[in-house]
Amino acid sequence: METRMTQARVRRSDLEWRWPHRFAPDLAPLRCARPVVLPCCRKPDAWLNLQGMKDFELYQQILGLVEPWRVESVTLKPQEREIEVRVGFADTLWGCPQCQQRMQIHDYEERRWRHLDSCQFKTIIVSRVPSVRCPEHGSQTVAVPWAEKYTRFSRLFERLAIDVMLECSITGACSILGMSWDEADGIKQRAVKRGLARKVPAVMARLCVDEKGMGRGQDYLTIVAQVTEQQTTVEYVGEERNQASLDAFWEALTAEQLAGVEAVAMDMWEPYVRSTLAHLPGAASKIVHDPFHLVKYMNEAVNEVRKSEHRRLQAQGDDTLKSTRQLWLYGMENVPAKHAQRFAEVKELNLQTSRAWAIKEVFRSFWFCPGAKPAERYFGKWYAWAIRSRLAPIKKVARMCKAHLSNILTFFVHHLTNGPIEGLNNKIQGLIKKAFGYRNKERFKSDIFFHLGGLDLYPAQ
Ligand SMILES: [Zn+2]
Repeated sequence: METRMTQARVRRSDLEWRWPHRFAPDLAPLRCARPVVLPCCRKPDAWLNLQGMKDFELYQQILGLVEPWRVESVTLKPQEREIEVRVGFADTLWGCPQCQQRMQIHDYEERRWRHLDSCQFKTIIVSRVPSVRCPEHGSQTVAVPWAEKYTRFSRLFERLAIDVMLECSITGACSILGMSWDEADGIKQRAVKRGLARKVPAVMARLCVDEKGMGRGQDYLTIVAQVTEQQTTVEYVGEERNQASLDAFWEALTAEQLAGVEAVAMDMWEPYVRSTLAHLPGAASKIVHDPFHLVKYMNEAVNEVRKSEHRRLQAQGDDTLKSTRQLWLYGMENVPAKHAQRFAEVKELNLQTSRAWAIKEVFRSFWFCPGAKPAERYFGKWYAWAIRSRLAPIKKVARMCKAHLSNILTFFVHHLTNGPIEGLNNKIQGLIKKAFGYRNKERFKSDIFFHLGGLDLYPAQ
C-alpha cells in the first residue's frame, strides 16, 4: 500500500475535517502525530494532518532546503517501512561545479539518498539531479545541498554513521543503522580520506614510534603518533617495521617540521634508530627509549627465568611456581589483595625467579631518579647487580640497556611519560580485538586513522 500526499492534494477542507463520532465515538479524544487515513471517510483518500503542518513543509525545514530546491511530495510506504521525500527544483540557471559559471540545465538523472530516519521509518530523499554542459569542463552534475558527491547518503546520515562506527564495530553499526557492511565501510573509508585531505602540515614537538602486529601472522605496521598534553594522535602508518618504513615518514616532513621535533620515543629497535639518526637533525639527543618499552623487556626476562625454573622444579615434583606467571609481572604496589599473601610467601623463597623479580622492581625505580646524572649513577649500581645475577635473560636485557644508555638517559631531559604511549598501544590492541584480527593491511591502516588519527571525519555541513 502506498499513500501519497502532495501539495496539490491537501486542501483546507481536508485539514478542517473532523473525526466522525458516529463511527467510533470512544476514539474521538485521540490525537495522532502523523497523518492517518480514516476508515469509512466520505473522502477515502484524504489525509488529515492533525498538527496542522503539512508534511512537505516539515521536511522542507528539516532538510534545510532553500530555493531553487523544494520538497514536492512526501510518501509513506508502510509496507517497506519507508518515507520517500521527493525533492524538486524551480527553473533556474545552474552553476558548473568546477568554475561556478551559470548556465541552463542540460540533462538530469534521478538519484536516491538515505537520510536520517523519521521515527522508525527509513527516510529516502529522491531527486532528479541536473547536469550542465560547461564549454570548459564538459558535462558536470551539479552539487545537491544535502549530500556530498558520489554518495548514496545524506550528509547528516553520514555524520550519524560515523558517530556510531566510532563507538562500535562495523557489524554493530550495520545492525543499528540497517545498512550493509559495504555501505558502512564506504562511509568509513570516505571519512578517513576526507580527514587526511584536510590535515595541514604542523610542527609536532613530541612523537612516538612503534611497531604493531596485525593480530594474524607476522605482518607489521610502523606507527608514528604525536603526543600532546591533550591527546595522542596517529600521524603516520607505514608498511613493515624496517628502516624504509620509518624513512618515508621523515622524508614527508617539511624542513620546519623536522626542526620542530624535540623528542621521539621508541623501542631499542635498530632500524628505527638508524632511520631517525639519518633524517632528524640532532637525533642523538632527541631519541628516547621510554620506560614502556624497557619495562616490557624486563618483564619478558623475568618470565623466561620463571619458565625455566618452573620446568626444573616440576621435574623434581615441586609445584611452587605453578600459576604464578602474572604475579611476577605486577609492579610491587599493584599486586591484588587476594594474591598478596601467596606472593609474599613465594617471593621470600630462595628462587631465581624472586631474584629476577627484585632486579626488575629496582629497575622500575630508576625512572624516578631526579635527573640524568643521578640516574646514570643509579643505573651503574643496578647494572653491576644484574650482571652478577647469573640469570641469562636478565643479563641480556641489562647489556642491551647499557648499550643504549645515552638514549635512555634522554628520558630525564624530555620526560616522555608512559601514559600516552601505553594508552595508544591499548587502543590499537582494542581495535585488533574488535575486528578479531586484521587480514587486510589497508583496512587496519584506515581503522587506525579513523579511530586514532584525531581527524575531522565529518562531511562539510
Ligand atoms: Zn565549468
